[in-house]
Amino acid sequence: MPKVLTPRCFSCGQKSEVEITQVEYDNYLNKRQHVQVAMSDRDANFRELLISGTHNACWMTMFCDLQESQMDFQNFMWVWCYLTGIAKMGRIT
Ligand SMILES: [Zn+2]
Repeated sequence: MPKVLTPRCFSCGQKSEVEITQVEYDNYLNKRQHVQVAMSDRDANFRELLISGTHNACWMTMFCDLQESQMDFQNFMWVWCYLTGIAKMGRIT
């Protein structure tokens, strides 16, 4: 099965290798289908990892840190959009 190297996780800085099927690979990387179409069977966490490289557990850690520092939800959403915006500009290799 093809492997895709994700961008670096925003939290821990690690890249991940994600295994996807040949069909998913063709649809996503060759036919350039939207990830939600190409990988409709996968859960959101999987797709998030593939696109942004950010692990679900790391999102949770960041979110909890933000909550502890009493950042309000709107600020959190701003940070989230900012980070995912950067991620979408990056190419998945
Ligand atoms: Zn991580």
